[in-house]
This record gives sequence, structure tokens and C-alpha cells, in this order.
Amino acid sequence: MRKLLVATHNPGKIREYHDLLADLPLEVASLDDEDITHDVEETGTTFAENAILKARSYAAMSGLWAWADDSGLEVDALDGRPGVYSARYGGPGRSDADRYRTILDELQSVPRSAWTARFRCVVAIALPEGRIYTADASVEGVITDRPRGSNGFGYDPIFYLPDQGATMAELPAAVKNRISHRALAAVKAKALLHDLLAQK
Ligand code: IMP
Repeated sequence: MRKLLVATHNPGKIREYHDLLADLPLEVASLDDEDITHDVEETGTTFAENAILKARSYAAMSGLWAWADDSGLEVDALDGRPGVYSARYGGPGRSDADRYRTILDELQSVPRSAWTARFRCVVAIALPEGRIYTADASVEGVITDRPRGSNGFGYDPIFYLPDQGATMAELPAAVKNRISHRALAAVKAKALLHDLLAQK
């Protein structure tokens, strides 16, 4: 059976992708499963660039089909920041709460009607011989004036989904994992994999 390298060390992500891809004739392996310790630096300026960079590098390194994602929050009134800098916004050594408080501080001078935002995710699939495919998805929302909820991670407590009447951090994991930017991009990427497997 063909092996797919999922380019992450995050056990939560591995589990989610493992479940999502369970019905494809693929063996899903993580970087740890393949003893790959090299970290590819995310030097791109877009989510797509970073996802492609990682998928390409890990496919070349392993000789396997490689799946990589990059994701983050885009706040319209902040010209799309934190964007690709979501994980390191404001510098190193800060907590998730430090990072979302920075966003709330930066929005203080902006009218509430302009606090629109989205989570975006790009998944890239790279084949060792060089072919590359991408799938992207986003979820629209509004930044709240104070954090609400304790589920999820990152910016979830300040990201309000009008359709759900809740912040991302107030949603049960099962709901988030159905509607999230990552889930939607992954479903599209799975369709690409399905077609690739049919061609081979
Ligand atoms: P990565 O794509 O896993 O590297 O995530 C980048 C960063 O974007 C994370 O560290 C979070 O700060 C933010 N982020 C990505 N997805 C989510 C999400 O589903 N909820 C909250 N924050 C997220």
C-alpha cells in the first residue's frame, strides 16, 4: 500500500488526518514514524508558499507522497495580520492568550463593525518527482471584544462564528472538526489524493 507522509509532529493533527483518510488505500505515517527530525523553516509570505515548501521538502527527503498544511488567522482591519505569522505573532516565548490580546489591543482604535476576520488553511500534496497540488479553505467570522470558551487552541476564544452563535472555543471539538478551515481544506485535498491514487 502507498505510504503518505503527513508532515507534522503534532499528534492531534496526525490523529485527525488519520481518521479523515482512513477509507483511502493509503498508509498514513508521521514525521516521527519516519524518523525525520529535520524541521523545514516556514519562510514563505503566504499560507500556500509555506505548505508547498514543506510538502516539497519532505517529499524529496523521504521519497514518499507528502501532505503539509499551513494555517492562521487573517484580520481585515489589520491588513490580514497575523496571517502567516499567527504562530509567532509578537515574537517568541508568548502564549496563545498573549497573542490574541495583542490583536484585541490593535483593534481598539477600529470600529467594531470592521472587526471581520477569517481562519484560512492551505494543504499541499507533493510527489517526490516534483508534482504538487494544493487545496485551500477559509471560515469567516468576527473578532470578539473579549475571549469566550475554553475548547480548541490559538485564536479560537476571540473568533466568533455568527452562524453558530458561538466562538470557535465554545464549540465542541466534533463540531469544530467538521466546519473548520482545516477540515474543509483537508476534505478537498482528500479528493485530490483519491484522483491521484486512481491514476497510479
Ligand atoms: P499551523 O498551521 O498549525 O502552523 O498553525 C499556525 C497558527 O495559526 C497556530 O499556531 C494558531 O495560532 C493559528 N491557528 C491555526 N489554526 C487555528 C485554529 O483552528 N484555531 C485557532 N488558531 C489557529
